[in-house]
Amino acid sequence: MRLNEFKTGDKVKVVKILGHGAFRKRLIEMGFVRGREVEVLLHAPLRDPIKYSIMGYEVSLRSSEAHLIEVTPIHDNTTYSTKSSESIVASDTDCAEHQHVYDSSRHTINIALIGNPNCGKTSLFNIASGAHEHVGNYSGVTVDAKKGTFKYGGYTFNIVDLPGTYSLDSYSPEELYVRRYLKTETPDVIVNVVVASNLERNLYLTSELIDMDRSMVIALNMYDEMERTGDHLDYNLLGEMIGVPIVPTVSRTGEGVNNLFDTIIDVYEDCHRAVRHVHVNLGRDIESSVTVLKDMLKSDKHIPAHFSPRYIAIKLLEHDSEVEHMIKECPTAADIIGARDAEVKRLENILDEDVTAAIASEKYGFIAGALAETLTKGETDTNSNTRIIDSFVTNKLFGFPIFLLIMFATFWATFEIGSYPMEWIEQLVSWLSDVVQKFMPDGMLKDLIADGIIGGVGGVIVFLPNILILYFCISFMEDSGYMARAAFIMDKLMHRIGLHGKSFIPLIMGFGCNVPAIMACRSIESRSSRIITVLINPFMSCSARLPIYVLLIGTFFPRHSSIAFLTLYIIGIIVAMLTAKLLRKFYFKADETPFVMELPPYRIPTLKASLRHMWSKGAQYLKKMGGVILVASIVVWALNYFPRHDKPSGTTANEVVAGTSDSDINPATDSYLQMIGKAVNPVMEPIGFHWRATVAAVAGIPAKEIVVSTLGVLYTGNEDIDNTSLSGRITALNPATGQPDFTMPSAISFLIFILLYCPCIATIVAIVKETGDWRYGAFSIVYNTLVAWIFAFAAYRLALLF
Ligand code: GDP
Ligand code: MG
Repeated sequence: MRLNEFKTGDKVKVVKILGHGAFRKRLIEMGFVRGREVEVLLHAPLRDPIKYSIMGYEVSLRSSEAHLIEVTPIHDNTTYSTKSSESIVASDTDCAEHQHVYDSSRHTINIALIGNPNCGKTSLFNIASGAHEHVGNYSGVTVDAKKGTFKYGGYTFNIVDLPGTYSLDSYSPEELYVRRYLKTETPDVIVNVVVASNLERNLYLTSELIDMDRSMVIALNMYDEMERTGDHLDYNLLGEMIGVPIVPTVSRTGEGVNNLFDTIIDVYEDCHRAVRHVHVNLGRDIESSVTVLKDMLKSDKHIPAHFSPRYIAIKLLEHDSEVEHMIKECPTAADIIGARDAEVKRLENILDEDVTAAIASEKYGFIAGALAETLTKGETDTNSNTRIIDSFVTNKLFGFPIFLLIMFATFWATFEIGSYPMEWIEQLVSWLSDVVQKFMPDGMLKDLIADGIIGGVGGVIVFLPNILILYFCISFMEDSGYMARAAFIMDKLMHRIGLHGKSFIPLIMGFGCNVPAIMACRSIESRSSRIITVLINPFMSCSARLPIYVLLIGTFFPRHSSIAFLTLYIIGIIVAMLTAKLLRKFYFKADETPFVMELPPYRIPTLKASLRHMWSKGAQYLKKMGGVILVASIVVWALNYFPRHDKPSGTTANEVVAGTSDSDINPATDSYLQMIGKAVNPVMEPIGFHWRATVAAVAGIPAKEIVVSTLGVLYTGNEDIDNTSLSGRITALNPATGQPDFTMPSAISFLIFILLYCPCIATIVAIVKETGDWRYGAFSIVYNTLVAWIFAFAAYRLALLF
């Protein structure tokens, strides 16, 4: 029978994995090997995907993929037999006496953090190096190597945080990335971070690192969670068995971290008792094939020495294409590949199973054997909370409503709670403006400070609280583990537009900022899905666009603000979906990406982490204020100020702006900005834009915050309304036209245009970088602007009817 045929609550045992290639390999790595027990936990609201429990962790598979797993039902409580630890073969002897050799030239230790996704590497990195890198309770948060430096115990540590990986194959970009890193950078000591409560699967990667034969220390992380379950692990004994020191840590609080670094120093100085070279025994048949290949590899002096011959031999048996490529240049390569083919054939005859699966099976056997001797399971079921929450959150009936409710609550908090501190900052800004008006002598400098700087930067800075709250909410969703559930319930819908549930996370992250969100797309395995997700990301309304929404929604829909917000975001989502669908239909032909995604247990986010995340975003925002937005405000102000202020005239500056700035009778007094705006405006008039709106939209291309700061600059200098907030100023009657610049229909059109049009420069750069092709960046600029215009036009005409 196949795995997808079973109902919730059924327990089955894996017989074999059908299908082929990367997907099959991934399933095997995740623990789907012969004899393993799997429980069906629940079906997603639209019946697909399905959540399973295997080896005590949870994973979701699409029904079509579960169909590729052949299983037999189990009715009694038999567990599969574990191998005894006899399969552990020790070689070298123990290290010498514990002593530190302080040699100053050796005082720098390069360490690399390697582990499964979501095992706490980044938390450890942050604690150790004092950095504030982003952590989140789902896979694929770290997509790049992050470097840090700190001093400890008389040594300088260079520490690198790598993306999470389940193995060291060449299947996903992350695996390749980590392996290439190990190949080219050769860290002195590898810190293998493992999750204490999910050792079986985590130790699979360890077994590959052992094959590589590098200096290594294991951080037994999330030790607090393990203690809570009542599990007991004799980690010293386990460490001796596998020849790698194991140190329990809680990287969230920093417990055990000093101990970890002491141990790293010991290993680096070659004086840790537990360190020895161990082989993960792969059984007699496979071992003999490994030996054949290993000997051939050893006798060829040209084989690159980045990896141990044993590791290369095993990877060759697994048909790892990159490793094959690596040895291709060597003189004996053809012989080795020939021998490999012969060995694979021989093994498949004996084992009646393909070699990749057999090797994984042996490795899991090794791990199970080692754990059988060292791990005593406690009574408490830690996952019960997760299960209870999930039965609501991923429920057929409640799943989507809960999701919408959470999004609604987020926007409500962003707008409603944010409006109080916003008012305070607004008052501060207007007080500052008053002071300048009163005490500075009239002249250009006063105009620059009052209108250019305070008008521009002040207009944007008031939205800082809203942005902080939005980031706080997103960070909460990420840290708690809800994000992975959102991807889980959305998979079916995402599938309809030709994407994977995993694409959903970068999309939500896009609500914060499109740039990191586009970078997070790297964890999507399929290239075409990755590019589509990158291209539709700018339609996810980022927080820089928030000020415009807060301003216009607050002005025109004060009583339905949360709904208006949600509607805007949903319009963005719909356009993104349509775009994805079009791209799939006309540009990328469909490709099936497997939906194998881990659903981590829920974790209560630490307030500290959330606040820190929020603060680092806030600091970024403030930096942007002092940089690009300040400069842009001054430029916009200058373009608006000249040339008509060049020559002294009878009227004062204020009178000019208030009285004649919009008059078309007297074009000689037009500012440069007016000229630009009026030149472009014919294109924008059909969607209800006044020239100031057009200028603001154009000015917003470097960074979307500039839209508001530009309006702030453009709507100053009129004494009658200078003391009202920006909202009052944009709705004041324009003496030139006899009506306000922004009316309800034109505000709606403006909102939609800003939501959808050309991404900011940083986003365009990210698109080009991540897709590796400038044409995708160009596409984004043209396509998004066109779509924005069409949607704004439709909305404007519709709104005019009412
Ligand atoms: P990475 O993907 O390996 O970089 O993992 P992160 O550092 O992003 O952490 C993943 C999640 O685990 C976050 O929600 C952390 O707050 C949480 N976490 C990390 N270390 C610990 C720990 O020692 N104990 C507990 N209970 N949670 C942890
Ligand atoms: Mg990370």
